[in-house]
Amino acid sequence: MLTGAKKLPQRRCVGCGISKNKSDLIRVVRSPEGDVGIDLKGKKSGRGAYICKDGECLKKALKARKFERGLELENKISEELAENLLEQIKIDE
Ligand SMILES: [Zn+2]
Repeated sequence: MLTGAKKLPQRRCVGCGISKNKSDLIRVVRSPEGDVGIDLKGKKSGRGAYICKDGECLKKALKARKFERGLELENKISEELAENLLEQIKIDE
């Protein structure tokens, strides 16, 4: 392994489990107040979960409740949020 090489920040997608550059992923964040939303700029504070800009990954993650686990939510994420994520993925494609 090379030493001193500059590495881009990597995050793991909750859908496929592959680590990618942060910029290739969408961040979903749970704020300290408990609100869950998409964090397009990656700057919001709170607990985050990342998903590829890929509809298949999103489907997998939703089905397996990966966001709920990653964000330590007691309830299922809302339909609205799931739809917003899908929209976001479409925009980025
Ligand atoms: Zn993925």
